[in-house]
Amino acid sequence: LFAGDCDFVKGVVAMSGLPPADRPEICLAGRSNVGKSSLINALTGRKALARTSNTPGRTQEINFFDLGGLEYLVDLPGYGYANAPLAKVDAWQRLLKQYLSGRQTLRRVFVLIDARHGVKPVDEEIMALMDKSAVTFQCVMTKVDKLKAGELDKVLAQVRGRLATHPAAFPELVLTSSAKGEGLATLRAIIAGLA
Ligand code: GDP
Repeated sequence: LFAGDCDFVKGVVAMSGLPPADRPEICLAGRSNVGKSSLINALTGRKALARTSNTPGRTQEINFFDLGGLEYLVDLPGYGYANAPLAKVDAWQRLLKQYLSGRQTLRRVFVLIDARHGVKPVDEEIMALMDKSAVTFQCVMTKVDKLKAGELDKVLAQVRGRLATHPAAFPELVLTSSAKGEGLATLRAIIAGLA
């Protein structure tokens, strides 16, 4: 399903540009700089499939990738960039709402959470949106290599506490490190299981 069998399809900026809803779709979302590009590249084994960038908030398109013709992997623009112009944030929120509530084939959204930071208010905004749209989401902790076990446990407790308040949350967390490869096989298996 992955590794060399994942191709960029298109980037869209409006609902009218979405590819036909003809296969199951999973989606990755997260704050700018959460490690989303790194995770997509690590998952697919392709170095530069998703652009890794230190300019947060740059990618504003919803990027579609084809996983072996079986499933779409959808890369949502990073959110929560402090200096993003309001008009852009507005347009993005509108598109996100339309996408989440209108995409029949969307199986699950993976919300990436930086292991150093835990769930932030801006993450909860998108979670609330998914509660409202009844779209199941699952949290994926990123950069777990940056924390000691005790520190990680504290953050995980915070995340679990927040998830308990969201009806659309899938309770199980996935712990990943794109740098060390941790959790990638688990996440690949979950994604493949949703096809
Ligand atoms: P994006 O904005 O969400 O696409 O984030 P990037 O993938 O560009 O990553 C943001 C920063 O975090 C970059 O400097 C990455 O090198 C770093 N990073 C991403 N994943 C990991 C990880 O698993 N471990 C560590 N230590 N750093 C990571």
